[in-house]
Amino acid sequence: MNRLADVPSRALALWTIAFFSLLSSCVSSTDVSPTDAGSPAAEVSAGKPDVPAPSDAGAEANAGPGSDADTDLGPGASDVGQKVSDARPSTPDVAPGGDGGGASTAKDLIGQLLASIDQKEVQQAVMELYGMSLPNRASGTANYRKATEWAKVMVEAKAPAVKVTFIEMAGLRNTEIVLPGTDPSAGMYIVGGHMDSVAAGPGADDDGSGSIGTMFVARAFAKFKFKSEVRFMLFDAEERGFVGSTQYARALRMTCEPTTCLKLYVNLDMISNDPRNRAAINVTTTDPQLRALHTQINTDYMIGAMLVFGGNNCGTSDDCSFQRSGYKTIEIKEDDFSPNWHRPSDTMANQNVTTMTKNIKLAAGVLASLAGIEGVR
Ligand SMILES: [Zn+2]
Repeated sequence: MNRLADVPSRALALWTIAFFSLLSSCVSSTDVSPTDAGSPAAEVSAGKPDVPAPSDAGAEANAGPGSDADTDLGPGASDVGQKVSDARPSTPDVAPGGDGGGASTAKDLIGQLLASIDQKEVQQAVMELYGMSLPNRASGTANYRKATEWAKVMVEAKAPAVKVTFIEMAGLRNTEIVLPGTDPSAGMYIVGGHMDSVAAGPGADDDGSGSIGTMFVARAFAKFKFKSEVRFMLFDAEERGFVGSTQYARALRMTCEPTTCLKLYVNLDMISNDPRNRAAINVTTTDPQLRALHTQINTDYMIGAMLVFGGNNCGTSDDCSFQRSGYKTIEIKEDDFSPNWHRPSDTMANQNVTTMTKNIKLAAGVLASLAGIEGVR
């Protein structure tokens, strides 16, 4: 999370010139080929306000199922799936099963996917990442690089179907995880967080939580097949002005149209602060269909979140980079903004892993529905 004001237009213009001049000379290991555009955003980040904004004042609360609020997913994914109504948009009712033993419904498959996201494993990952984040995990540090290497192993060990690539540019490293889709015409979705912290603290919540969330969505997704390609991103230098994500989104825009190619970017930045144990999750979208989908996923799979919907204001995190490149974005994040933000006290002790796991499941369920889950691998 970074309360950076918009990058001045002059800096953006200069950056655009630098971007195009460097485009042909840079080589990436992926077909996306993000290029080094310098870091003008970093230049303006020194002037960013150091005051967190409150949650959206006009946000609308939308409580999940009351009695189910603290209920974990049942052991039987099929049982969960049978509670789903048929209103989910753009998801096939019936998809071929991967085992030849009959068709599995998308509802069943999403239930299975969400059940595979284990809170104890999330807790373990939180501990491991924290252990390599003292005193901080700032961009350019050995701790940052160690964390990205840990993330690569963590994902590859559980998700052989994905390809994990470090995209290195001018001392920065974005980590890109790609799960190919089965239908090239179905476009793609991206979920991401940022692996760097500020220098002032270990960044357990900001954004170790969203980075781990992104990794766990990737690990769960890799066991299934989707029509759409899904990418999982761990960005560098968010705290210096969304630098890694800006490079990535601008390069992507050269070959990937909004709406038809990248259909939605989902940002996970600060998803674990919840000292009151309210399980309140803030979803920043004004799209009524997306709001309805979040409500439906939360209810149907008994995630137990209290959804709070707000508008999507560009300027606080990596979703802004995608908005500036013309893409549709949402954020899924803690509703209680952390008082430990950008402080040494942003520690593991102040993370609520139960609420964090609900955030992860909500994001995974929404993405699995949108990306057209169609079977197991
Ligand atoms: Zn931050």
